[in-house]
Amino acid sequence: MTRQLKSYQLDMVISELIDVVGEDDVTTATPDRFVYAVDHYWIPEMWVDRGQEPILPDFVVHPETPEEVSRILQVANTYRLPVVPWGGGSSSQGGALPIFGGIILDTKKLNKIIEIDEKSMTVTAQAGINGQHLEWAVNEKGMTVGHYPAAQRASTLGGWLGPRGSGTLSTKYGKAEDMVMSLQVVLPTGEIIRTLPTPNHATGPSLLQLFVGSEGTLGVITEATLRADPLPEERRFRSFLFKDMSDGLEAGRRIMTARLRPAVIRLYDEVSTVKQVKRVLGITVQGSYMVVGFDGLKEFVDLEEAKVMEICAGLRGEDLGSEAGWKWWNHRYDFYFPPRLKSLPRMYGTTDTVSTFSDIEKIYYAKKEVIERKYHKCHAYYLAHFSHWYPWGVMVYDQFVVDDPPQDPHQALLLHNQIWADAARVSVANGGVLNEHHGIGIKLGWLMREQYGPGWKAMQGIKDALDPNGIMNPGKLGFALR
Ligand SMILES: Cc1cc2nc3c(=O)[nH]c(=O)nc-3n(C[C@H](O)[C@H](O)[C@H](O)COP(=O)(O)OP(=O)(O)OC[C@H]3O[C@@H](n4cnc5c(N)ncnc54)[C@H](O)[C@@H]3O)c2cc1C
Repeated sequence: MTRQLKSYQLDMVISELIDVVGEDDVTTATPDRFVYAVDHYWIPEMWVDRGQEPILPDFVVHPETPEEVSRILQVANTYRLPVVPWGGGSSSQGGALPIFGGIILDTKKLNKIIEIDEKSMTVTAQAGINGQHLEWAVNEKGMTVGHYPAAQRASTLGGWLGPRGSGTLSTKYGKAEDMVMSLQVVLPTGEIIRTLPTPNHATGPSLLQLFVGSEGTLGVITEATLRADPLPEERRFRSFLFKDMSDGLEAGRRIMTARLRPAVIRLYDEVSTVKQVKRVLGITVQGSYMVVGFDGLKEFVDLEEAKVMEICAGLRGEDLGSEAGWKWWNHRYDFYFPPRLKSLPRMYGTTDTVSTFSDIEKIYYAKKEVIERKYHKCHAYYLAHFSHWYPWGVMVYDQFVVDDPPQDPHQALLLHNQIWADAARVSVANGGVLNEHHGIGIKLGWLMREQYGPGWKAMQGIKDALDPNGIMNPGKLGFALR
């Protein structure tokens, strides 16, 4: 625990929290607290696996209204206790871990749909709603949110916005930050505010986007309005095989700079084409495998598919037809769930970044080089795919894997952090960013000052102004504990 609360103070906090949410929605029982000690970050998983004590929160609360959230934050300010918003706990960056103890604010009871506006095609919901439930609710009205992250069933609306998440079809539907129109937020000092009703305006800087990506360090998002899209009349997939990754990247660049808008382009590097595509899809190919998906009105899909086929043929991309593409779509989440998900005892990390088309290959080769050369003694290897495309560039979803990491947990932690630092610094030095859609959390927080340079002063100033006691999710996003 941050402040060593005396027994009397502990009881005071418990009784104040019970006063806010009721006895059933506050817990200090060890098994309940243990649930919140591990998310999907490799370090706490390894730590517990090797018999080490995890860091537990002191209290877990389950508020149901923004007013309850506000009162919880006021209690936390009184006793200077950290508050960590926890949605689905599927973060891979340690974003929701209570690393300094304090209060876990579990948002899952904030799970109501407030309004579905069919005329404007928007949906307003509380932030703790499960991602799959939100999608089903808009599906019933003939719409889709269009956000299909691999952890959709395990994540919440607030957890999509916290780290600026991305779904499988982001190339057409956008990232979480592109979908959100307005927010209700409880500030660290307890005020309940709303951002402007529309995301596009000329009414000052975007208060909305200040909270998107803030990973629970600037307040608790309690409600969000998202735009929705019509469910597609037609959906198609096609796959192609390129001689190498460079040809595939050039095809993707030509598709995007021709301003076509496929729902997805997923290009596997040569290593992933052999390892992943074969393992999960059962397709044995060599080269660089690409899946392209199209959806929307049938006429648009016809046109887009024809144009993409023309571009790929121009780069000698072999057309593997639609069956293999559908196979990928139907098995797209298999890569991320047991038995195919990478898991202990292996050490692994997804060091995704994004850059312009001009820089992306440079980043890929520099990272592959540093991981495989510097860590060749522990047989580290690197594999990647490119899956979120923009009009100006693309994200690389790249991973390092060490099959046999040190058994000693301290040594394992040091090795893990060294590889991460090298990979992240290569991204930044070559025109990329620390992360594209998993967020920063505790994993990359210590590198934020390097990423922002003198700009970090502005970030810190905003944090200090909004959260004078530093209670919100300390240690994340590079903000210190006070
Ligand atoms: C197998 C697997 C596959 C994944 N695939 C994807 C993917 O395809 N795309 C993708 O984007 N991510 C992916 N992720 C990462 C993760 O699932 C996403 O970041 C997800 O959006 C997190 O949602 P959550 O509700 O679980 O958030 P949590 O893990 O609970 O929280 C994430 C962060 O957001 C903050 N937060 C949560 N709720 C709120 C709130 N209401 N207000 C303020 N802050 C809040 C937390 O404090 C924390 O910092 C994957 C993770 C796993 C384990």
